[in-house]
Amino acid sequence: MDELLIRGGKIVQSGSVLEADLAISQGRIVEMGAELSADGRMELDATGLHLFPGVVDMHVHFNEPGRTDWEGLATGSRALIAGGGTTFADMPLNSHPPVLDAATFNAKREAAERQSHADFALWGGLTPESLDNLPELAEAGVIGFKAFMSNSGIAEFTSPDDLTLYQGMQKARALGLTVALHAESENITSGLSRRIRAAGRSGVRDYLESRPAIAEIEAVNRALLLAEETGASIHLVHLSTGRAVTLAAEARQRGVNVSVETCPHYLMFTGEDMERLGAVLKCAPPLRGADEVAALWQAIQAGMIDIIGSDHSPSTLDLKQRGDFFEVWGGVAGVQSTLAVLLTEGQAQGLTLPQIAHLLSQNPAERFGLTGKGKLDIGADADIAFVELDTEWTHTENELQTRWKFSPYIGQTFRGKVRRTMLRGQTVYDEGKFLSPPQGRLLKPSAT
Ligand SMILES: [Zn+2]
Repeated sequence: MDELLIRGGKIVQSGSVLEADLAISQGRIVEMGAELSADGRMELDATGLHLFPGVVDMHVHFNEPGRTDWEGLATGSRALIAGGGTTFADMPLNSHPPVLDAATFNAKREAAERQSHADFALWGGLTPESLDNLPELAEAGVIGFKAFMSNSGIAEFTSPDDLTLYQGMQKARALGLTVALHAESENITSGLSRRIRAAGRSGVRDYLESRPAIAEIEAVNRALLLAEETGASIHLVHLSTGRAVTLAAEARQRGVNVSVETCPHYLMFTGEDMERLGAVLKCAPPLRGADEVAALWQAIQAGMIDIIGSDHSPSTLDLKQRGDFFEVWGGVAGVQSTLAVLLTEGQAQGLTLPQIAHLLSQNPAERFGLTGKGKLDIGADADIAFVELDTEWTHTENELQTRWKFSPYIGQTFRGKVRRTMLRGQTVYDEGKFLSPPQGRLLKPSAT
């Protein structure tokens, strides 16, 4: 299977969709063009299918080692692949112990090399406890450092105060790595939560009230200022408000090295959906109003949002089944659905297929220096999602590859179905079946 020719697919590239044959050798794309000669290669007919670069999901919580009852690298990576993904970056906090030094990095790396069906990168944590460990984490191969400006929900993963964040950014800059930030103000969110809970209020609306837009906007503003002062590269994860995205875009205009992520759930659902569906949609920052959803789509069209990541963050069912909504685990399970959401809702909003490939694959790979990933070009890894674009389908529980069959996307009707996923030239998923044992490789960032 080292030499393969894919015939007749429509190849989604940076600026266009090219109808061509695609030749693969040793896991890489070596030729693209009309009517390539077979030359003794195996042939695969992709007539009627669109070939997308495999999704590069820079934001997942697969919880291994230590919390595999929540998810796990095997189930998480299978779900990613079933949704057309080929690369993920795992966040440092929900595994136990969290990734705060080289030893915990290596433990997760070993687990992933055994279990992951997709290629992977690993985030390290920036906390008061890990500040001095950033060089050894960089040496071990982290893709960047994640910090929480509000409570992370995990006791062993603490929030840096402003001084620690400032010093962490200085160190990250010296190491040539990006700091990813969960930007919500701890003062505002914890203060409001205390007051609201003291008044005996514990419903969805009460939770929404405890994390207002200003909590995100204020924290984003502070993060941008620290990045500007230190010259650090920062990545603002899961932005949920148009105002915060605008602040980032303005900062970029004046030279701040910042990228912006949002997630499918902020583009698909509102606070009213959270009230209707409950725990399955609990997340922080919370879902907003229809006006913010529209603002995010506009920001995507304007090029102000670079990356869409799933922020897949599941838990056991009992942590989702609490009477007090403040006690429910916050996290949306969506790693399998990102491409489906973009092909459906994104196209309805006017996004082109190349724009979708940029947001899900090329931009994240380029931003984080994942060489050879994120695009279908000569020399790139043959990481390919084969999509039947016009097929309408309704997501059922049975199709979910995740540990828990609990996702807001169950029952959702999508347009565009992943038929096959290829990792480095090898078909790893075909019509609902996984064809090979785990073979994910660690990806380290190259200088960007
Ligand atoms: Zn997250």
